[in-house]
Amino acid sequence: MTDGPRYRIATIPGDGVGPEVVAAARRVLDATGERFGFAIDWSEHAAGGNAIDAYGVAIRDEDVAACGAADAILLGAVGGPRWDNPTSPVRPEQALFKLRGTLGLFANLRPVAVNPLIAASAAPVRPELLEGVDLLIVRELTGGLYFGDRVEATGPVGERHASDQLPYSEPEIRRVVRLAFELARGRRGRLTSVDKANVLATSRLWRTVVEELRPEYPDVEVGHQLVDSCAMLLIKQPAWFDVLVTENLFGDILSDEAGVLAGSLGMLPSASLGERKTAHGTFGLYEPIHGSAPDIAGQDRANPIGTILSSAMLLRLSLGRTDAATAVEAAVTATLGAGYRTGDLAGAGERDSLRVVGTTAFADAVVAALVAGAPEGVPA
Ligand code: NAD
Repeated sequence: MTDGPRYRIATIPGDGVGPEVVAAARRVLDATGERFGFAIDWSEHAAGGNAIDAYGVAIRDEDVAACGAADAILLGAVGGPRWDNPTSPVRPEQALFKLRGTLGLFANLRPVAVNPLIAASAAPVRPELLEGVDLLIVRELTGGLYFGDRVEATGPVGERHASDQLPYSEPEIRRVVRLAFELARGRRGRLTSVDKANVLATSRLWRTVVEELRPEYPDVEVGHQLVDSCAMLLIKQPAWFDVLVTENLFGDILSDEAGVLAGSLGMLPSASLGERKTAHGTFGLYEPIHGSAPDIAGQDRANPIGTILSSAMLLRLSLGRTDAATAVEAAVTATLGAGYRTGDLAGAGERDSLRVVGTTAFADAVVAALVAGAPEGVPA
């Protein structure tokens, strides 16, 4: 037992590999608490396919409320083939929309840093292009096309018609752009705003709001980039980017594209933040960017790094524990440095020179590195 602070973290293990990667991150967070003298009160909530099976809904109102009362939420992934029917009135991803909407989580942060130990073998992009890649995509999460009015297809076959609206209000744009300016200020000071202002009215409003905020941040270099050329530059010169800010649909697509740079979907963390402050930082929901990976679920094969690094973001942003967050990140780097890899990170020709392990053993190695005080090293 510790006399230090206690933090409340709500977990949503979810479906597929979700419970495996969340269990791994929980162990790492508990070990971090032991090292730094704090304790975590955990709660666990059903969401996604398993909640549909148990309760008939993707997430119950009482679970949303309990998650909202915590300091932060750690989520695995939801969904899977059993619940993938897009015409079903109850679908796993409704849990994510409900959490984001109810808890006001309007900004999704996806950092993409390329670990040189992984890049050479796992990423499909030439290694020399990946040198120094360290970017952060800030995606607006609760507006735009995904939340606009929708008219499903009507009319006779051959003449059917459907439409989706893309609405944005000035306050919705301003709060996420302001957050991106603040984040750029704490990094390399370069902000790229991504839009389609040559075509879309909402993009022209977006650009205007960015320009109106620019004078408040004279230390940040601001550029505008059309989404199509941005998609190309992200592959041609990814190291040029620092912080990118963009609307919901563009952010969804660009963040998956940028994810490829890191070598495996299993590597990347994310945070979804709102305006609500907790006693220690900003309330948020943290999750790896990958899905429930049903093809490897229950086999101890999932890479837990994305979830462990999400928990480092949780420590830094929601709990104000920069010390512990830095230690977790250093422990992951030390574990990779000691040769530990999950299967997705080990090319066929490298397996003999690496320690290819499962989810649990990888988390064990990260915990050992933490206890040993990485970055000095991992006990063999
Ligand atoms: P996915 O990310 O689950 O898997 C894509 C591929 O990457 C698979 O081959 C998988 O084995 C591999 N992969 C993913 N995570 C990995 C990890 N941690 N370690 C090693 N390999 C990993 O994407 P998908 O197959 O398109 O979707 C599967 C299900 O997940 C679907 O039902 C989808 O709706 C859902 N999904 C949920 C979320 C979420 O909860 N936020 C996000 C995306 C997809």
